[in-house]
Amino acid sequence: MHNLIGQFEKVRTPFYYYDTELLRTTLRAINEESSKHEGFKVHYAVKANANPKLLTIIREAGLGADCVSGGEIEAASKAGFPSEGIVYAGVGKSDWEINLGLDKDIFCFNVESLAELDVINQLAAAKDKVARVAFRINPNVGAHTHANITTGLAENKFGIAMEDMVDVIEKAATMSNVKFVGLHFHIGSQILDMGDFKALCNRINELQDQLEIHHIIPENINVGGGLGVDYEHPDRVPVPDFKSYFDTYARHLKLRPGQTLHFELGRAVVCQCGSLITRTLYVKQGSVKKFAIVDAGMTDLIRPALYQAYHKIENLSSESPVEEYDVVGPICESSDVFGKQVPLNATKRGDLIAMRSAGAYGEIMASQYNCRPLPVGYTTEDMRAL
Ligand SMILES: *Cc1c(COP(=O)(O)O)cnc(C)c1O
Repeated sequence: MHNLIGQFEKVRTPFYYYDTELLRTTLRAINEESSKHEGFKVHYAVKANANPKLLTIIREAGLGADCVSGGEIEAASKAGFPSEGIVYAGVGKSDWEINLGLDKDIFCFNVESLAELDVINQLAAAKDKVARVAFRINPNVGAHTHANITTGLAENKFGIAMEDMVDVIEKAATMSNVKFVGLHFHIGSQILDMGDFKALCNRINELQDQLEIHHIIPENINVGGGLGVDYEHPDRVPVPDFKSYFDTYARHLKLRPGQTLHFELGRAVVCQCGSLITRTLYVKQGSVKKFAIVDAGMTDLIRPALYQAYHKIENLSSESPVEEYDVVGPICESSDVFGKQVPLNATKRGDLIAMRSAGAYGEIMASQYNCRPLPVGYTTEDMRAL
């Protein structure tokens, strides 16, 4: 990134910078490690980052797309993802979104309630189509991650309770415009303990045994995403440990013959390739601490304010001795803080500051609060072309 500072100086801050070389390296690692196992199919969770340039690179690598809204289905289609590689999850799908999925003949709807199944069946009937559906089961498996991003506990809003699984599958069999094609799970995000994924495997094994009693063998098992990244060490660990991740599933999940195992990785694909680049506007000595006020705010990167998330912050313009700053944005909210007591090479007005590991849930979550413009995303190629 340091070799592009001259280019960074040419565009208005704040902006996102995406290291597309790292993205391609990451995608190669995913393909290499997943293809060692028979029947593994990886989708990209579009919600992590729907920047069209990144979507195109990810589609070129051959991943499918995991969407959670009609807008994401549209974004994936526009980036050239084939319909047969699109899966659509979401606890509250509206009619136009379901109709869009039906019109595009997507691979499958991940259904989260009986009420939703009814609506999909009706809407498919109106189009004289048969919708492929998988049931998202709440496996009641906890992930050792932030409470706001754990999704697989009985108390969470997501999915169908395990004890209702057989009933909903049998109900689907009686409906003429849906076809049951698999089970879906997703236990949370930023998971680094492979034991959590192992617990999910064990639970799926139990559920498959139950289904076998009813002579049900789903064609597809989808285990969602959730693999975490090293926010502390973006340079030391730029590519997540995909080998351990896929090996964990290969070792612990008992696939039945002919079953396909689907993954939906978001953060692990795009997080480390992205940085939010901002500038120091002012350095302010408060009564007890020193503030670096930068031109990016929580409108550009909300994760610290929303989840108390850590992003490594670096001064790209200075090699001066390290000092401590509270790095804050210009938004009229006290939570508009990127980090407290951040060690930073001494900064002055105009320095370029990088918030690292911001490729996932960064640009896509940006808002226009305070009538701010949305941040622009530039790739390595865009920067070189300036
Ligand atoms: C968010 C989400 C993902 C991706 O999660 P990551 O932690 O970014 O890998 C996958 N599947 C579903 C259903 C999701 O909601």
